[in-house]
Amino acid sequence: MTRLSNLFTQSYQVKTVQSISPLGLAGIISFAVTVCLFLLNQSINFQVLEWVIYDQYFRLLPTEDIDSRLLIVTVDEPDISQLQQWPLSDANLLNALQQIEKYDPRVIALDIYRDFPVPPGNDGLETFFRNAPHLIGVEKVTGTPVAPPPVLAEQNQVALADIVLDGDGTVRRALLSVKHEGQPKWTLGASAALLYLQQDGIIIDPTIRDEFTLSTGISFPRLQPNQGGYSRVDNRGYQILLKFRGPDNAFETISIQDVLNDRVQADMIRDRIVLIGTIAPSLNDFTYTPYQHSTLTDTSQSPGVAIHAHIASQILSTALDGRSQIRSWSTAAEWGWVYWWCFLGSGLILIPQWHSRRGAAAFISTMVPILGLSIGLIICNGILFGAGWWIPGIPPLLGIVISATVSLSSNNLRLLKAAYVDGLTEVLNRRAFNQQILVIQKQSQPISILLCDIDHFKGYNDFYGHPAGDACIKQVAKAIGQAIRSQDIIARYGGEEFAVILHKTSAQKACEIAERMRQNVYDCQLPHEASPVSDYVSISCGVATRPAKSHMQLSEILAQADQALYEAKHHGRNQISLYQTADIKWLI
Ligand code: GH3
Ligand code: MG
Ligand code: MG
Repeated sequence: MTRLSNLFTQSYQVKTVQSISPLGLAGIISFAVTVCLFLLNQSINFQVLEWVIYDQYFRLLPTEDIDSRLLIVTVDEPDISQLQQWPLSDANLLNALQQIEKYDPRVIALDIYRDFPVPPGNDGLETFFRNAPHLIGVEKVTGTPVAPPPVLAEQNQVALADIVLDGDGTVRRALLSVKHEGQPKWTLGASAALLYLQQDGIIIDPTIRDEFTLSTGISFPRLQPNQGGYSRVDNRGYQILLKFRGPDNAFETISIQDVLNDRVQADMIRDRIVLIGTIAPSLNDFTYTPYQHSTLTDTSQSPGVAIHAHIASQILSTALDGRSQIRSWSTAAEWGWVYWWCFLGSGLILIPQWHSRRGAAAFISTMVPILGLSIGLIICNGILFGAGWWIPGIPPLLGIVISATVSLSSNNLRLLKAAYVDGLTEVLNRRAFNQQILVIQKQSQPISILLCDIDHFKGYNDFYGHPAGDACIKQVAKAIGQAIRSQDIIARYGGEEFAVILHKTSAQKACEIAERMRQNVYDCQLPHEASPVSDYVSISCGVATRPAKSHMQLSEILAQADQALYEAKHHGRNQISLYQTADIKWLI
């Protein structure tokens, strides 16, 4: 109740939003919520939540066909125990490479460090390296660096084994190249794919700087710091969003044991990229992917070699099959999307509830839009993801909930106003006034109550018509309102009758205020031809005061004010009158 009185203390200033439509209000609320979310997004990072949704979408996407341009040769735990050695000796590695070479691969990508010789067999391996222009070795430049195989480095046949991880240790971005010591260096997957494409006559377009574009015109736009659900992500080097084909069985694999024992079919290797890498848990070259599990190994992570295979496959399939990449909208479009969902959240609350609903109906008409829209958003974003678009989901999701909540509150406020504010004059109505009287009943300070009534208003109505009468009542309410102080309360008590509560106000001060009201109304100079007492619209006013510490009921004071009003009317109208117990003293 106290809150209600605070709300409407300045009742005559309260403007109900009658003129605005629910759609207009939804538009304003959505705009405000979108701006707030935009600012919030600058300080709070939603990307961890975005990743959760992103990964889920990936898992829901149908697994793509195996990319038959790639083969992964794996070195697993059983291979290591069979060979009884790690690192693999140069001789064993040479053996495997020679077996592979027999079947004429297009590219060999060796994702095994060979920064120093592992005897025996170093000479043979070096000779092989010197005669294999389609072989790429690896080095590592981030974290703890690992040097490249010296011979391959001399021949410029080295790529990076580096992979970029998100804050939660998951790979979602494909690092294609890094500038290291002033030189751009490709990562293994990208380098293998480019070598593969070279044989199809496709090379990097040298005329386009700062963007990875192929001679066929296909480009791989650089990842932006706030792309999709990312927030200020470290996009150094050249990165793109990694579009996995599916879990790790997206590629054919064969163990190094099978290669060494020549248990391999020629067409598994011929004209393909053959990646050789470790998947043995003890070697710990694993990362999480959006799939969070791997069928290639028993661990829940993916081996580095599989990540390079996904990167190579993404470049090849985009270049040769026209496979789409993961794209994002512009920032403006993303925030337009947020606005749209806020608007739906707000509109679906406001439109059905514009005409009051209570109880279960209100609950249902609140929860259904919020839940329905949230599910709708997740589905829409999922469909867009399936079409290759990563659109942030958290800001619109928050937008729906916040807009709906704000809309609900604003609608409740509107209904509250409608219940307690007079529609014509926008001051409190009689119900609110009576409640106010109950609230302040126990106050010990002096309280004055005024009752004001327009003189000969029936005549005014008859003479000027009812609509003019309405306009006159509005004007009078405004004039009376301008005479009171901020802590006072005015209400429309009857048709053309107003009641005013003056807090902490003595009889003398109350009379001053009442006189100011009467003067204000008169000064409006609203012509009143039908009034026998004045040329202009006038009011009469009754004043009654409950002195400090009195326990008299305020309803009694109200009755006294009414009595005083009667006396003011009786003595000629256009005047005020103070109720006095002994005799009534007339004031002008
Ligand atoms: P008095 O000086 O004694 O107050 O005379 P009066 O004519 O003002 O008093 P009475 O109570 O006889 O008439 C009040 C009139 O106010 C009657 C009614 O038609 C008019 N009225 C009440 N509410 C409204 C309203 O909302 N709009 C309009 N236009 N007239 C109203
Ligand atoms: Mg009257
Ligand atoms: Mg009256």
